[in-house]
Amino acid sequence: MKFGGTSVADLERIRHVAELVSQEAAKGNEVAVVVSAMSGQTNRLVGYVDALSADSDIGGSIDDEYDAIVASGEQVTSGLLAIALRRRGVKARSWQGWQIPLQTDGAHASARIKDIETLAFNQSLKDGIVGVVAGFQGISPEGRVSTLGRGGSDTSAVALAVALKADRCDIYTDVDGVYTTDPRIVSDARRLKRIAFEEMLELASQGAKVLQTRSVELAMNNNLPIRVLTSFAKPGVPNPGTLVCAEDENMEERVVSGVAYSRDEAQISLLKLRDVPGIVANICATMSQANVIVDMIVQGTSRKEDQANIVFTVGRRDVEKAVAALEAAQEKIGFGSILVNDKVSKVSIVGIGMRSHTGVAHTMFEALADRGINIEVIATSEIKISVLIDTEYTELAVRALHSAFELEVES
Ligand code: ADP
Ligand code: ASP
Ligand code: MG
Repeated sequence: MKFGGTSVADLERIRHVAELVSQEAAKGNEVAVVVSAMSGQTNRLVGYVDALSADSDIGGSIDDEYDAIVASGEQVTSGLLAIALRRRGVKARSWQGWQIPLQTDGAHASARIKDIETLAFNQSLKDGIVGVVAGFQGISPEGRVSTLGRGGSDTSAVALAVALKADRCDIYTDVDGVYTTDPRIVSDARRLKRIAFEEMLELASQGAKVLQTRSVELAMNNNLPIRVLTSFAKPGVPNPGTLVCAEDENMEERVVSGVAYSRDEAQISLLKLRDVPGIVANICATMSQANVIVDMIVQGTSRKEDQANIVFTVGRRDVEKAVAALEAAQEKIGFGSILVNDKVSKVSIVGIGMRSHTGVAHTMFEALADRGINIEVIATSEIKISVLIDTEYTELAVRALHSAFELEVES
């Protein structure tokens, strides 16, 4: 059972979570719980780090200490939930990432899980003690605290469930399942009863924050079903949530399953490039050396025959890093100038039914054109179409696409 930030936002919510956990334990289940920090806490901690690191750039990287600080939110909630459980008469103890240990690589702030040692943890479960694990955190090869990237408690939970060979991983959050789009933006968005791993993976990677992308990847690779449900359900009211699981035939009938959006995008254009083989490879090498992930890429020839323009997108947080690296490599890459636009959003439609249906792109582009929304860049995969648009039109585009594909109607 994993509980997100709003589910453990205060002591009242933590008492309620203790009740939900004790109900599972009372059914005779061995229960491992993963908790996030109280909502808002991680942002607050990140704010402290940002403020101090803005003082100067003397002293180099601070990512290791960032992790030491931001991981503390989860330490608090794991201890509080263990106390709340004991006060209900349920045997429980907290586990920090390093205590399990949950081993990660050394990529501070976005570490990947390498291994979870389950011997001691499992023994404790077998002894009838509920394990309350601080999500989001692990231990690096250097023995330092590491964190798994924002939203990483989902990944802690799925990885632990896989390691423990659990039957299920239940992710409790503030919505009662995975919706056809973010219910905060579209009021008639619909809860999906089931969604295929691949679709959830695309939705998450295109911006649907309900599950961290890596958690879906792990679940898919290990065929571990995830149930997304709410911790706010009224007693006695059914709370079936959404099952994220392997694809079945019914799912294919749905052409589009969901719409995702991301405002965390920035568009970089390199103008007057030498049009010779190897240019894109050079740009990508420069970006990867700077640790910047490049997403959409479009190359176009300009009016002058030997010149090209390239447009690509990076995460908004990486813009400064990307531009600095490009400027440093200007001679090697051979471009005239750089243009940056950080007022762009990516809006995507996702559905495994797209593999076998035609006309999906047409419907999408027409819906956007009807609202006067201009498309900057298009990217497609077998089960996804993404467009880059002016940030100002994000919500309008999401609503337009949701209704163009009639996602509010039960299929
Ligand atoms: P938690 O703190 O429990 O991890 P998050 O805030 O990370 O919760 O994720 C839940 C939020 O994800 C919801 O409140 C909702 O606004 C957002 N969300 C975005 N897209 C979707 C979607 N397709 N279905 C459900 N929720 C979504
Ligand atoms: N508390 C962390 C965050 O806010 C991890 C999580 O909530 O999953 O990103
Ligand atoms: Mg989350």
